[in-house]
Amino acid sequence: VASLEVKPERTVVRVGPFIAGNLHIGVIAGPCSVESEEQTVSTARAVKAAGATALRGGAFKPRTSPYSFQGLKEDGLKILALAREETGLPIVTEVITPADVPVVAQYADILQIGARNMQNYRLLEEAGYAGKPVLLKRGPAATAEELLLAAEYILNTGNHNVILCERGIRTFESHTRYTLSLATVVWLHQRTHLPVIVDPSHGTGHSALVPQMAAAAVAAGADGLIIEVHPRPETALSDGFQSLTFEQFEATMELCRKVAEALGRSL
Ligand code: PEP
Ligand code: MN
Repeated sequence: VASLEVKPERTVVRVGPFIAGNLHIGVIAGPCSVESEEQTVSTARAVKAAGATALRGGAFKPRTSPYSFQGLKEDGLKILALAREETGLPIVTEVITPADVPVVAQYADILQIGARNMQNYRLLEEAGYAGKPVLLKRGPAATAEELLLAAEYILNTGNHNVILCERGIRTFESHTRYTLSLATVVWLHQRTHLPVIVDPSHGTGHSALVPQMAAAAVAAGADGLIIEVHPRPETALSDGFQSLTFEQFEATMELCRKVAEALGRSL
């Protein structure tokens, strides 16, 4: 169902101001985790002013260690809803179990399936049936072919608003947290009509590498970006080392806009 042979025209996913696909680049930005109302609402305002068209923020967090911050759960979803009221930005937030789909779908505009859950097939189906657009992140050890097959589980529920996300894979290289595979963006576009976005934050794991890799993703034809931004990255409860400050995000957007304009695409 995801194949270009089945549907030659590109799928465009639209949610309010967020448009991804067919020359439209949608930028999702915000904190890794929702930590407080002040942190989330101030970030929402800043990323909107810089040109982001959706707000990200994790309320249910899939942490490597069970001793790390697990997210504010439904309280976090309520804060996201408040930030949406304040800014008009649609909300992108992760759902980590099938049982949580109803509560997350009650607040979210786009359901995020995290890299660790790319092949959690019951979760993919439940998220698909919720009827909201689904952002499907590539597993760190999944091939692009497996990402496309995972997307089929969502598409087969009748939900055709699926966004694929390259967020880096695990390799022997350790100077970056993951290895961001931008060739995969081009490869996917040659096979699927679905929009493909890039996460340079998890893909590199270092805020200093994010601006250039975001711009490179736009140059590779990405239909969108998902970028972690925090008012005070050094105090973040998760992923502070890869989160941009408001100023760094604004500069990243300026750089990406130049690349997009040079290629006749809108950002
Ligand atoms: C996230 O977006 O904060 C996240 C946990 O991403 P991933 O699933 O790609 O690791
Ligand atoms: Mn994160």
